[in-house]
Amino acid sequence: MVQLSNDCFAFGGKLMTIDEALRLIEARVEPIEGQEHLPLMECDNRVLLAPLYAPAPLPLFANSAVDGYALRGADLPQETERTFPVIARVQAGAPAEPISAGAAVRIFTGAPMPQGADTVFMQEDVRLEPDGRITAPAGLKPGANMRPAGEDIAQGAMAISGGKRLRPQHVALAAALGLTHLTLRRRVSVAIFSTGDEVVEPGGRRNPAQLFDSNRFMLAAMLRRLNCEVHDLGILRDDRAALAAALENAAGNHDLVLTSGGVSAGEEDHVRAAIEKIGSLVLWSLAIKPGRPVAMGVVAGTPFIGLPGNPVASFVTFAYVVRPTILALLGATPEPLTGLPVRAAFAYKKKKGRREYVRASLRHADDGSLEAVKFPREGAGLLSSLADTDGIIELSEDAEGVNPGDLVHFLAYPVLL
Ligand code: AMP
Ligand code: MG
Repeated sequence: MVQLSNDCFAFGGKLMTIDEALRLIEARVEPIEGQEHLPLMECDNRVLLAPLYAPAPLPLFANSAVDGYALRGADLPQETERTFPVIARVQAGAPAEPISAGAAVRIFTGAPMPQGADTVFMQEDVRLEPDGRITAPAGLKPGANMRPAGEDIAQGAMAISGGKRLRPQHVALAAALGLTHLTLRRRVSVAIFSTGDEVVEPGGRRNPAQLFDSNRFMLAAMLRRLNCEVHDLGILRDDRAALAAALENAAGNHDLVLTSGGVSAGEEDHVRAAIEKIGSLVLWSLAIKPGRPVAMGVVAGTPFIGLPGNPVASFVTFAYVVRPTILALLGATPEPLTGLPVRAAFAYKKKKGRREYVRASLRHADDGSLEAVKFPREGAGLLSSLADTDGIIELSEDAEGVNPGDLVHFLAYPVLL
């Protein structure tokens, strides 16, 4: 099946904004085929295939929200306190007998409401009489301290929408409804390569001009956080024919092929030429810093993404290009990255017309609010700038800079994956 069609690259502009790239990905990347029916314990962070309709109401039955005394709303003391005989006792997990008029039932949190009772007095609000009766004050509203059946989710209502990437709370919801398994999209399989004559395996032999591969480890870890099936295919030399052969082979066996390095417009950037030979490619010059050059292409229907080699550029473009592509391949509901406003504790100048990402840490200001401190250096190759910060600040295309005290949009690293 074709996940990405060639004609999706009709885009002719020079610098593409992130929003344009996102729209293109969301409109043109088709979900992969294939589903799995898995036990609930294995469903976290997977994508639900179709909407889930509640087969039962939640809660399943009306029950008490507190430890106390259940009675009929019609019997509630109106003007002055009133004394009730306690005719029964009902515990969580045990069935309840119907209540009779003018009586109270001792009840505990989670125990079913006796038929006819709709209100519960908290035990600390009543007075226990020496003869075992209780005296309750006036003023409680009918329905208080009781959880009606279906107040959380009505039977037949949509409990989880189709395409939702499940979080622990969604798995809990399915369990509460009595389900044992869910039908999920199969995981996306991703082939990952690093490219470049200067890149060697960590710990491997290197000449003085070579560096240890870090991108492959970072990108594989990012892919795994998105629950992809990652196939690490190593490092490719800057050799057009070898690149073309390896990428073509990988495209045949995977849902997505991901590389880093070699996508700028330099004459030693061979990934671009290799993809043009075996498929079609558009080099997106994204209006973004760091991360300008990103290649997206298609090889025999399989999407290809070539990220820039600089580690920080690779990281940021992963979040803005690879992540939405994977969500689209999963048929998942898009999860736009929205920064939360925090106060800038720094000054920064930027060019208009491109979006910039500044690595920053958060700290508590004197008034208790959060403020962002910019990492002191800016290079796109500085891994410490990612390692020693809490997230990135997104500065919009029209912004020309930041002044101390400005509200800026902060995205914590966990949000990006
Ligand atoms: P390129 O995108 O090939 O022009 O590379 C840009 C910069 O990123 C160069 O300094 C490369 O040495 C560096 N680089 C490329 N690939 C990797 C990698 N896998 N790990 C760490 N740095 C890399
Ligand atoms: Mg290179």
